[in-house]
Amino acid sequence: MRSQLLLKIVGLYAVLSLLALIGLLTALDVKQSTDAAAQQTEEVHKRLRSIRTDLESVDDPEIVLASWKQTLQRDGYRLWLVDSDCRALTSADDQPTAEITLQSVVRSALRSGQAERHIRIQSNGPEVLAFALDASREKEDPRVLLTVIALEALQSNHAPVRSAAARAAIYTWIFGILCVLFVAAGVVQPLQAMSLNLDQSIERTLREDVLLSISERRDELGHVATALHRLEQEREDRIAKLEVAEREARSSSDLLSSVLDSMVEGVVAIDREQRIVFLNTGARRLLRISNVIGIGHRLYEAVRVPAFLDTVEDSLQSHKMETLEYRRSNEEASLVLVVIPILKGPHTGAVAVIRDVTEMRRLEAMRRDFVSGASHELKTPLTVIQACTDTLLGGAISDPAAAERFLKQIEEQSERLLQLILGMLQLARVESGQQVLHIEPVDVVTVADEVLRGFRTVADAKSVQLCLTGPEQMMVIADDEALHTIISNLVDNALKHTASGGDVTVELVNAATSPEIVVRDTGAGIPAEMLGRVFERFYRVDRHRSRERGGTGLGLAIVKHLCQALGATVSVRSELGRGSEFRVQFPAS
Ligand code: ADP
Repeated sequence: MRSQLLLKIVGLYAVLSLLALIGLLTALDVKQSTDAAAQQTEEVHKRLRSIRTDLESVDDPEIVLASWKQTLQRDGYRLWLVDSDCRALTSADDQPTAEITLQSVVRSALRSGQAERHIRIQSNGPEVLAFALDASREKEDPRVLLTVIALEALQSNHAPVRSAAARAAIYTWIFGILCVLFVAAGVVQPLQAMSLNLDQSIERTLREDVLLSISERRDELGHVATALHRLEQEREDRIAKLEVAEREARSSSDLLSSVLDSMVEGVVAIDREQRIVFLNTGARRLLRISNVIGIGHRLYEAVRVPAFLDTVEDSLQSHKMETLEYRRSNEEASLVLVVIPILKGPHTGAVAVIRDVTEMRRLEAMRRDFVSGASHELKTPLTVIQACTDTLLGGAISDPAAAERFLKQIEEQSERLLQLILGMLQLARVESGQQVLHIEPVDVVTVADEVLRGFRTVADAKSVQLCLTGPEQMMVIADDEALHTIISNLVDNALKHTASGGDVTVELVNAATSPEIVVRDTGAGIPAEMLGRVFERFYRVDRHRSRERGGTGLGLAIVKHLCQALGATVSVRSELGRGSEFRVQFPAS
């Protein structure tokens, strides 16, 4: 594991300790040289004093010098007994060089008793140390003991000590580096582990393991690891709490969005600058907002209806709820807009709720039409009954012929009223699904035969040809009674609107895809523009004549609703003056 910190610590220690050792070695060397020189000088002085003592006790200096020379030569010394002019006084002696430097040492010794000096015997020769000691017995006979020693000989004496010191220093240095490396690694490695621990990419359990293992140490690093471990746990706890809170917030916001999206109503929330902050699917559908427009767009980019935008603006200005009902352009659809201002909380602005009221308005119109149609239908027979009753009470009752006529009218109108009310009740039952249907296979031929039998007298009376054509048996899945009512109403209408000499045919078509009942007549027919409305309740093509013929205006409406209840469809084709054709199609069984 490479560590910058470890490199720095060890590197710095290595440089500093190296400098210290070099300084120490240099100081040691200097000290040793100084001590060696002082010791050497003392040694020389001591020997020269011993020679002088020997010379004083012996008359022949030759013998003394010869014995000392042998001893001194081993140590690199050269020895002379010279006069004041630096000439050798013993015959066996070679002459010292007549260097002026050497002579000055001799004279200095004669003046002060002894002298020592670093000199060069030749100008380019090696440096030597010269010692001189006054050994004169009388003043008139001056003589000096002179010795010269090469400096190299002196220095070479402590070279082994220096190299040993240098070796020891190098070993110490290396050992020191290893020790520092060991100690620093002990500190740096946990630090490295901790720094990795802070890295997010490491798993939580791994991070905790690392910190726990370091926290077992009893030093400061252990304390730091313990503190970090505690922080780590707190951090993880906080993250976990935040995650839970975020999940909850997201799920409640998802729930809210799906609830709002599943609403039939459109919901658009805008801020004070009329920027869209929320838009549900219902709003997109009702306001025809394309997918390109969304959160952040201005309301006028989404909705191009001036009245809509004015209502929103009014609500934002007045801080009051505003409503508007408008028609979507080029469509029948009616929309109601309710704008509720949001005045409190962090999101001020408004919420616009849009509701499609087309169906509601249609039902309202139907109800209105029904009420007015029903009252109108009821009014006519009731007016007649009332008029007849008034006339009878006014005296006509005493005239038997008139009384009979009026009572007959009252009976007719009462019958019509009954038929009307029965029709309305049946229609209400079928429409509301209260009519109990027994859905089972029914033979249409049997039902149609029965119906035609019932109308035979009427048809004969009108001289209308009434016949049934088709297969001998045709099964459909239906309710027997409902089927009877459907065929009956259609045949009744056909007979009513077919003049004498015409034909009314009930044709059964056992088509492979779907069985059909076709009621065809050669009557008056229905104008093309009214074909679409004949199935509406109380709708009559010719109101006056229809009433005269005893129609309630409910027959086809009942047919339509019964067909719907049976899963069948009814349609009409007609040509004015040539006849009509009503076709009931059943689903393939
Ligand atoms: P009504 O009781 O007045 O016949 P219906 O609902 O049965 O009411 O019929 C609605 C209207 O449709 C009738 O008033 C009549 O004008 C027209 N109509 C129905 N059947 C025929 C038909 N076969 N030929 C011509 N007009 C018809």
